[in-house]
Amino acid sequence: MDSRKKAKEMVTGSIDFHIHSGPDIFPRLLNDMEVAAQAKEAGMAAVLLKSHSECTAARAAMAGYVNDFPVFGGMALNYSVGGLNPEAVKTAVRMGAKEIWMPTIHAAHYLKEVDSVPMFAALLKSGMKGIYLLDDSGRLKESVIEIIEIIAEADIVLATGHISSKEAMVLVEEANKRGVKKIVVTHPTSPMEAYTVEEMQEIVERGATMLEHVVNDTTHQMKNPIAPSVIAEAIRAVGAEHTMMSTDSGQVINPAPTISMENFIYLMLEEGIPEEEIRVMTRDNPARMLGLSL
Ligand SMILES: [Zn+2]
Repeated sequence: MDSRKKAKEMVTGSIDFHIHSGPDIFPRLLNDMEVAAQAKEAGMAAVLLKSHSECTAARAAMAGYVNDFPVFGGMALNYSVGGLNPEAVKTAVRMGAKEIWMPTIHAAHYLKEVDSVPMFAALLKSGMKGIYLLDDSGRLKESVIEIIEIIAEADIVLATGHISSKEAMVLVEEANKRGVKKIVVTHPTSPMEAYTVEEMQEIVERGATMLEHVVNDTTHQMKNPIAPSVIAEAIRAVGAEHTMMSTDSGQVINPAPTISMENFIYLMLEEGIPEEEIRVMTRDNPARMLGLSL
């Protein structure tokens, strides 16, 4: 069977762990309801909605209810929720959030790199002082420790968001020590993160459960899109058991999430990644991060 046909088939049963839907402060291709309906129609097993601005747990619950389909949410710790705000995290957990991202568009590191994503550049060139996880001595701030403990207790996903690899190394090691069982490194091959292969291996050694690669990084959403081979190389370097494939789609210039997932699977098949490994990365691993048994 050719890769294109195979990829289309493999969307069935997959989970997209990273979709940006509307309503949002940025233009989005689809709203929450449309994302859920299309994923259900495509035979996917679940989706997770991400916003840079607010907790999506309640939105996910409503989209799931209306469509009778598993939809999950989370919260990114940007200024709009108070930044590194343990009280907001506690509330998100009680609302059913499955993933807490460290700062994304308001991360100090990201604000330096924001030119790499034209969509955000105009909005963020404001001289904003970004959020940084470490204190002057290089240790995690007390608020981050508190947040780690809330996440460990709730047994949900801690994700690195758009912080630097330097912060992420410290964060992941501490989260692992404090009992967080689901630690996701958000798009480490993305141009603004640009982990080396050695850094990806190191962060897994420090306790990261999953490296999450996204097809969005290969599209013209990025000023300098990465080659699919960069992701294939990363998969081979740490193994499928430590990798998830998500779309990070939702941008108006990219295809819909279901098509983006198909494209991602196609690209990895073409790179020679075995079908069984792709199933692990698009189904088994995200299911485990969501606590689902499929
Ligand atoms: Zn994203």
